[in-house]
Amino acid sequence: MTTKATDTPKECNEFQQELPNFFDTGEDQVEHPHLKTCENCSALVRDLEYIAAQAKLLLPIHDPSPAVWENIHSALLKKS
Ligand SMILES: [Zn+2]
Repeated sequence: MTTKATDTPKECNEFQQELPNFFDTGEDQVEHPHLKTCENCSALVRDLEYIAAQAKLLLPIHDPSPAVWENIHSALLKKS
């Protein structure tokens, strides 16, 4: 993986590292103080929530493997 260090704030990196854990709790909405201050991560979470909702409709799985999240995450990063 060639993840180049952009000007992404450290808090964003840390938040995004934790993100799969929030979804693993089974919560429909991700609540995190960082989202109140960061539009970037708010948008990312909205996208992920949408994708997760679609995935739940398509696949009867409740805990996607880390590899699935990796793919979703990298796809979003490429898109933006
Ligand atoms: Zn952020």
